[in-house]
Amino acid sequence: MELSVNLVCPCNGRAYGCEKLLKAHHKTKIHKNWESQQLQKDIHIKINRLEIENDQLKRINAILVERIELLTGETKKLKVN
Ligand SMILES: [Zn+2]
Repeated sequence: MELSVNLVCPCNGRAYGCEKLLKAHHKTKIHKNWESQQLQKDIHIKINRLEIENDQLKRINAILVERIELLTGETKKLKVN
């Protein structure tokens, strides 16, 4: 039955007989701690993604700065000649 699947809490894998029992479980310290740990994991994953994105942007920025310097140098050469 699909309804009973919804009454299983992912923190402990236990099935609760009715929604009221599941809601009561959600208020327990064990569940709150689990929720907090999940949140910390999510934040950690997001931080890692942002660090990777930041590294990629730094590399792109370095390439762009290099190209600008190259173009600026070419322009100066053209002005001299
Ligand atoms: Zn739980």
